[in-house]
Amino acid sequence: MKTVLITGGSKGIGKCIAENLARDGYNVVLNYNKSGNQAKQTQKDLSKQGIKIEIYKADVSKREDVKKMMKFALNKFGNIDILINNAGIAKLQMFNDITDEDWNEMIGTNLNSVFYCIQEALPNMIHNKNGCIINISSIWGLVGASCEVAYSVSKAGIDGMTKSLAKELGPSNIRVNSIAPGVIDTEMNNNLDNVIKEEIKNETPLNKIGKPIDIYRCVKWLIEDEFTTGQIISPNGGYVI
Ligand code: NAP
Repeated sequence: MKTVLITGGSKGIGKCIAENLARDGYNVVLNYNKSGNQAKQTQKDLSKQGIKIEIYKADVSKREDVKKMMKFALNKFGNIDILINNAGIAKLQMFNDITDEDWNEMIGTNLNSVFYCIQEALPNMIHNKNGCIINISSIWGLVGASCEVAYSVSKAGIDGMTKSLAKELGPSNIRVNSIAPGVIDTEMNNNLDNVIKEEIKNETPLNKIGKPIDIYRCVKWLIEDEFTTGQIISPNGGYVI
């Protein structure tokens, strides 16, 4: 049975991916940081359906936390076959209002976390000559978002890491890809009012806002595929083409 470790699995996109992969029969380690109750609830709900998952609290912006989390996963399941770097934060602010603290928090949570998680999972993947790394970036890393410069930079950084690492790790049979979602209906977008959501919908050729399940479907495909690496795949309803 293959093992998946997913960061930021307590809510939104990560929760949906974790639940569905657990139902598909993968061993799942669901990482959370602040939302312990929600992670525990997901674990409980799945266990009522006869499905066991592991949950682990770690702030993925901290190297030591990530180290301990990977050790936990390896002790439990022996391998990390699939790493999904999903944890992330967003903040709307004018460029000149971004403080050093804001910047470091954004880059630490969204980008350094990916660096730490991949480095700490890699020795096991290289040893197995097998691995699948999926980084969740964003359309805003592709096209840039006004008033979200730090967020856009963090996501563009992830895509750069994906492409470079795919070249470096291909010979070890480790695939590295990004999923760059369009606007998806989660708590992250609670700050968008209904008028803005309606505008986005109208500007989207498929005329809808995405759902976490749309991202799970893409993850599932990438896990099963054997010939895709270094790609930035963007499920976005055609909003960015
Ligand atoms: P969300 O509902 O706000 O969930 C964010 C998740 O990230 C939570 O589980 C949160 O865990 C976790 N997280 C945040 N900081 C963390 C840290 N330091 N350590 C560990 N976990 C941390 O957001 P979402 O919409 O599902 O977003 C998931 C990913 O998709 C993010 O990377 C986001 O940038 C990306 N994305 C989202 C959209 C969208 O429209 N929603 C579009 C493009 C890309 P805790 O609450 O437990 O701390």
